[in-house]
Amino acid sequence: MPTPIRSAIEQFCVDLAQDPLLVQGAGGNISWKEGQVLWVKASGTRFQNAQQQDIFTAVDYQHLRTFLDKGHCNVQPRLITSLAQARPSIETLLHALLPQKIVVHLHALLPLAYLIQSSAQKILQAQLAHFPEWTFIPYHQPGAELASAVLAHTKNCPAVKLLMLQNHGIVLAGKTVDEVRSLLGRLLAMLSDDMTMPQIPAYENICGFAVNGIEYSPIQDPLIHQLVYQPALYRGLQECWAICPDHVVFLGAKALCYTDRIHFQHQSGDSDDNGDKALRPDVIFIKDDGVFVADGFNTAQQEQLKAYLHTLSFLPSLNDVQVLNHHDIAALCNWDAEHYRQQLAK
Ligand SMILES: [Zn+2]
Repeated sequence: MPTPIRSAIEQFCVDLAQDPLLVQGAGGNISWKEGQVLWVKASGTRFQNAQQQDIFTAVDYQHLRTFLDKGHCNVQPRLITSLAQARPSIETLLHALLPQKIVVHLHALLPLAYLIQSSAQKILQAQLAHFPEWTFIPYHQPGAELASAVLAHTKNCPAVKLLMLQNHGIVLAGKTVDEVRSLLGRLLAMLSDDMTMPQIPAYENICGFAVNGIEYSPIQDPLIHQLVYQPALYRGLQECWAICPDHVVFLGAKALCYTDRIHFQHQSGDSDDNGDKALRPDVIFIKDDGVFVADGFNTAQQEQLKAYLHTLSFLPSLNDVQVLNHHDIAALCNWDAEHYRQQLAK
């Protein structure tokens, strides 16, 4: 029998997963503290499966606290029990360092639309003036670097209940699941005063094609073609691609955009005898034509691309968007912990 707190957490996970503006694929994580144990979502698992599968790992909380109390975030969480071969979330340290019993981290798209703007901190200060105890955290690579930054920002204010993570997402912390639910509701209500989700028309009847022996099919979700039909969104693909870590991890460092199919054919180049030189991307964007994917493009990638479309759609203009820099992108693309998550998504 699950404990009452575990049952409440499982229900909360399933509820969150119903809303694609809050949860995409295996993104986000949640934890609760019970005595010496920190229960945290395993890397690569999905909120939606919380009630049918064991998606949580048990980590030695005391062990992590010993390091955190000395200001150290470079520590490998020690597993107590867990589902076979699971790794605790990349953000386990972040969960351990906040003192509240329940902590949830989401890549929620409405907050993200604020957090990718260069003036995010200033705008949020006005928007969240009446929100209890929140703080803005400048961008850091997920994992130990982000945990160190949060530790530095929160050590003198343990009552912080909301972290707004630049170019990343949100963290909410509370004594009970109900408190966290209500904080999330309040946050979203405060933000949506300012931005609304526009209606996005779908594009159907787009035909696929083949280049260098590779079949490119129109992406299954017809809304996503909007990215190449709306001039502002197409510009976004070219200028505002790397908006947050999961976007880069699942979809790569840049969007491959082409004016038409001939342009793509030329750019993909003639392959040599081994076919080595041919460009073989798994997703391409052809202006006023469609978004095309090759075999192997998976559901996690499609969800991520839809999330990107939604996030940009919230913004009245892309002029103030700030993307991750080359250094941040390289760090994400070459990271073992993220390769593990990409593998699990396949
Ligand atoms: Zn995250």
